[in-house]
Amino acid sequence: MIKSKKQGILIVISAPSGAGKGTVIKEMCNQNSNLWVSVSATSRPMRTNDEEGKTYYFITGEDFKQKIEENYFLEYTNYAGNYYGTPKKYIQEHLDAGYDVILEIEIEGAMNVKKIIPEALCVFIMPPSLKELKRRLESRGTDSKTKILERFKIAYHEINEVTKYNYVVINDEIEAAADKVLSIIKAEKCRVDRIEDVFLQNEEEYMHELLLDDKDFTNKSLNLE
Ligand code: 5GP
Repeated sequence: MIKSKKQGILIVISAPSGAGKGTVIKEMCNQNSNLWVSVSATSRPMRTNDEEGKTYYFITGEDFKQKIEENYFLEYTNYAGNYYGTPKKYIQEHLDAGYDVILEIEIEGAMNVKKIIPEALCVFIMPPSLKELKRRLESRGTDSKTKILERFKIAYHEINEVTKYNYVVINDEIEAAADKVLSIIKAEKCRVDRIEDVFLQNEEEYMHELLLDDKDFTNKSLNLE
């Protein structure tokens, strides 16, 4: 009766640095193979657990500026002194192929995407508490004290922007949080504005005619046994 759009949906996931968004997304991908996570470009230095082309494409500030000129990014921002941007390439391609595409980006970028693509689904992942957020930021052991404080201040500001998102999920337990975001995606796919076509199968067409002519509407005449 109904044919839904084959195209995937664009999901923007933001969270304050240290809220565990990366781990939640990894768990989501383990549970659902229809997700494709976009890899951003950044000018920030690599951390020990980073992998070129997997966590980010690491480029210089100069190269980043050049790419801005070339209109290479869907959106970009300067966060804590470094550039971050979503390459346009591959996103539409993956959506058209039916993948649900995830952008793991901060709030300014998320709002810019929402302006360009209003139907994007925006999900905010919240840490269980500010105390836990501070602990997680400190336990990384990769950033200096000044950087940690800077990230903590940004995180505090970001938490206050949560109402700009469509959904909020608290990450107190990774599997549960991943499960919630996947449920949100499932629900989003059932929205009526994702209906591409409404059509009638043979029996339904017959039923339609009976209803139009106000004829006897019984199981027998519909031949549904
Ligand atoms: P991190 O340095 O901790 O990897 O990332 C810092 C922040 O930049 C995170 O909130 C992350 O989601 C965000 N970010 C990563 N890639 C992009 C991007 O392409 N665009 C924007 N706007 N933010 C990004």
